[in-house]
Amino acid sequence: MIYENWFEISSKVKSPYCPPLDKNITTECLVIGGGFAGLHAALTLANAGKEVVLLEKRFCGGGSSGKSAGFLTPESEKDVDQLIKVYGEKKAKALHEIPKKGVDLILKMIKKYNLDCDLRKQDSLYLSFKKSHEKWLKEEANIREKENLPFELIDERNLKKIHPVKNYTLGLKYPGSYGINPFSYCQEMKNLLLEKGVKIYEDSEVHKIEGNTARTRLGSIIAKNILICIDKMKAEFNEEISKKIYHIQSYLAVSEPLSKNEIEALYPKEELMCWDTRIIYMHYRPVAGNRIIIGGSGLWTTYSSENFSSKIIEKFINELKKRVSLLENVKFSYYWAGLADVTQDLQPIVDYDKNNKSIQYALGCAGLPWAAYCGDYIARRIIGKKVEDLSEFTKLGRKFFVPKYLKNILGKRITFALSHLNEYFQT
Ligand SMILES: Cc1cc2nc3c(=O)[nH]c(=O)nc-3n(C[C@H](O)[C@H](O)[C@H](O)COP(=O)(O)OP(=O)(O)OC[C@H]3O[C@@H](n4cnc5c(N)ncnc54)[C@H](O)[C@@H]3O)c2cc1C
Repeated sequence: MIYENWFEISSKVKSPYCPPLDKNITTECLVIGGGFAGLHAALTLANAGKEVVLLEKRFCGGGSSGKSAGFLTPESEKDVDQLIKVYGEKKAKALHEIPKKGVDLILKMIKKYNLDCDLRKQDSLYLSFKKSHEKWLKEEANIREKENLPFELIDERNLKKIHPVKNYTLGLKYPGSYGINPFSYCQEMKNLLLEKGVKIYEDSEVHKIEGNTARTRLGSIIAKNILICIDKMKAEFNEEISKKIYHIQSYLAVSEPLSKNEIEALYPKEELMCWDTRIIYMHYRPVAGNRIIIGGSGLWTTYSSENFSSKIIEKFINELKKRVSLLENVKFSYYWAGLADVTQDLQPIVDYDKNNKSIQYALGCAGLPWAAYCGDYIARRIIGKKVEDLSEFTKLGRKFFVPKYLKNILGKRITFALSHLNEYFQT
């Protein structure tokens, strides 16, 4: 397997390189970061007629957005019943709705601007990894029933009719999820921003913000509004906030092309986006060129720093081959890994800077829909649109499961692993 982001090398969409900022300029709105959050923020501002500059450390889509698996699901990282326990019913439902709004926003952009990003309607098929996990699918089915959401519980025998798998004892199928090439989406958004007059500077890492001035190595920008949508924030940038965010690492691999018949045998009725019930789950779906993308991680590597070994994803590929015998002889050609930023409670940080209200943050967005939504959200505040109040869930000063003093002893890696386990087992 070759270590390359297949979405990047196969993308049909190209965008011009935007050279670094090498002068001192002023603007009305500065967006920092060219992932889903930053690109959406910039588009909302540009559409409102604002003068916008976007600064990106590497290239647009070069962070986790362009490296992701392109799974668009309205499912939140946390179930409604988990959220209800913390926030009460009304607030929990509002919070759970956000990724759905994020998916709708991305779909709206694709349709409105005809973005070429291999959009595929792919219903979700959540698979019970073993018999004892069936209860989770049944609980989810109960909630869906209560909420009047569509779903189908599918037993082992009937699973074979929609997707021939072995040893998955139960499946929960529901609509509302999609697949895209996330790298192409970023390139399309970047092209759109350029068309709308947004000035983009790539290879332009912001090292420091002093008042309303953002400094890169070769230049600086004074902006009336600054929207910070970056990842892996360094302590020099903002020590306090950088401590509130860590990453989870995930691995992806893409297969060689399959024949049309092979794909039809795998998905006799419709393409599906499958994942299983383990904490660190395996997921796979078809992508362009009749290939299959698979993703997963390991408990240790999820919280470790960047690790390029293919071992983890090979483990998942072998397991997939055992469970989906039609893939037994299929080779996987490309693999890559990426680090996605998250907070301890898996809700993003969306807030104003505590010392300067003209600076806003959209950080640690767990998932493409969350990132699109949060970028758009902070931009809507600038253009004076009414927005829902998210402060309770996303404010900078909120308390986390592992208190500050303990975090200093445990270190970031253990703190975040413990916090996420706590979120997972809250029910
Ligand atoms: C391997 C992998 C698979 C994933 N799969 C999925 C999936 O299938 N579905 C899903 O919903 N989510 C998925 N995710 C998560 C998703 O990718 C992220 O949650 C989302 O992309 C976050 O978007 P963002 O805009 O907040 O951050 P990013 O996309 O990381 O964008 C931040 C940008 O800021 C830039 N930047 C950083 N510092 C600076 C600075 N100082 N100055 C200027 N620019 C800076 C970076 O270069 C980067 O481009 C996956 C993540 C990974 C790593």
